[in-house]
Amino acid sequence: MAEAEIGVIGGSGFYSFLDDVTEVTVDTPYGPPSDSLFLGKIAGRSVAFLPRHGRGHHLAPHRINYRANLWALRSLGVRQVLGPSAVGGLRPEYGPGTLLVPDQLVDRTKSRIQTYFDGEPLPDGSVPNVVHLTFADPYCATGRVAALGAARGRDWEPVDGGTLVVIEGPRFSTRAESRWHAAQGWSVVGMTGHPEAVLARELSLCYTSLTLVTDLDAGTETGEGVSHEEVLKVFGENISRLREVLFDAVAALPANEDRACRCTDAHQGWDLGIELP
Ligand SMILES: [Zn+2]
Repeated sequence: MAEAEIGVIGGSGFYSFLDDVTEVTVDTPYGPPSDSLFLGKIAGRSVAFLPRHGRGHHLAPHRINYRANLWALRSLGVRQVLGPSAVGGLRPEYGPGTLLVPDQLVDRTKSRIQTYFDGEPLPDGSVPNVVHLTFADPYCATGRVAALGAARGRDWEPVDGGTLVVIEGPRFSTRAESRWHAAQGWSVVGMTGHPEAVLARELSLCYTSLTLVTDLDAGTETGEGVSHEEVLKVFGENISRLREVLFDAVAALPANEDRACRCTDAHQGWDLGIELP
């Protein structure tokens, strides 16, 4: 089996910039991930890219098999994951082109399986126990530092911290919802950050979210509200420097065996009932 140490779950704009990409298909007890995984090297580090929505963006946020995606990455040897995503800004100062590295998460999704430990037997007959993990700090402290430093190194002053609220989608927010999100003090709104982060934690993976603001959310401005075309346009304008930041962040991450963050002991003595890949 091919191996990788770092995973990047992002848009299809990333793997195509690497030389010598090896495409591998991985199956999991939860079914297939969003797409093939693309293995390449960045600064001597082995990286696996996974297009979150699949090639051609055919998977809506609520249809993504998040469990399969994280499981597949871990089965290749990945222990640290960077998760870039497009978001709406909930404050006027977080306009299009803002890079925000959140430190908190609010789950407003409705229909997604968000645990591996639900007592449901796996195809091989093993049965995961019910496990309740600490999730007070949903993101890897080391990964956040790497991402922030990488952005600053590219003269892209990031917002250090903030709350990502994840909505079910695929529709965008109403003005009332958007005003409510902003009134809570939340920073940005997206559709894919959950359950990606919590499933990573359940697999003891380091997970870092990098959010690129592509629009001001519906209640934050006075225009027509966000459109998908607007999101794609701003994302396209920023993808090359986001790629540079991701590459630099990959290079700045510690070796997997040198991780000193709390993600590595996420299970804190729980008997998982199953072997992680
Ligand atoms: Zn970590």
